[in-house]
Amino acid sequence: MKRINKQESPQWFEDWKRNFKTENNRNAHYKNDFSADDADGINRRRRLRESLVNEQGKICCYCMRRISTDSSHIEHFLPKDFFADQDLSYENLLASCNGEGTMTAKDEHCGHRKDNWWREDMISPTDIEVEKIFEYLPNGKMNSVRGRATSNIAQEMIHNLGLDSFHLERDRRQAIEASEVFDDVEYSEEEIRSFIEYYSNKDNGVYVPYCKAIIDCLEEML
Ligand SMILES: [Zn+2]
Repeated sequence: MKRINKQESPQWFEDWKRNFKTENNRNAHYKNDFSADDADGINRRRRLRESLVNEQGKICCYCMRRISTDSSHIEHFLPKDFFADQDLSYENLLASCNGEGTMTAKDEHCGHRKDNWWREDMISPTDIEVEKIFEYLPNGKMNSVRGRATSNIAQEMIHNLGLDSFHLERDRRQAIEASEVFDDVEYSEEEIRSFIEYYSNKDNGVYVPYCKAIIDCLEEML
């Protein structure tokens, strides 16, 4: 997982929540208020998705697949059904891919698969720790990093977010194969470090899909 650097909540979003409270004498909630089933609700959701997708450099908060405003949904890291007081807190909102829409439920991954699952000790993609608890291998597989206090929850996150799905393993493997990791060249340490730097940062506002998987494999080459 690539850590998400949360920016300031968009001004229009904070204004909307404040105005709602003034007009209705209560806090707005995601389901019926913000995400209303009319054109305004659809526009609000889209505008918020756009902010989140850009904030994340156009990769899914969990699997790092390329996403756009049209191919993503608003994900509540702490499920909105259990944490109603945080269902419109910008800090709790992420952009997730839609998994494999045409496949069976078993192949689902990310936000839709996670659904209402949560554990108190699960680690948010906004947490700096999130880059330390998983390791990605050149064959596209991923594991929890062993010997850490987080190994158990990391393993459960892989399973409950479907990050070990066939599709994701295949796509990660292809992304790694397309990177310098599989080049038939003996790169110097300096060159490898510059590749890592490249995959660690947004280029023109976007991350390379599966960038953290590529970074892990490059680090193994040092
Ligand atoms: Zn995803």
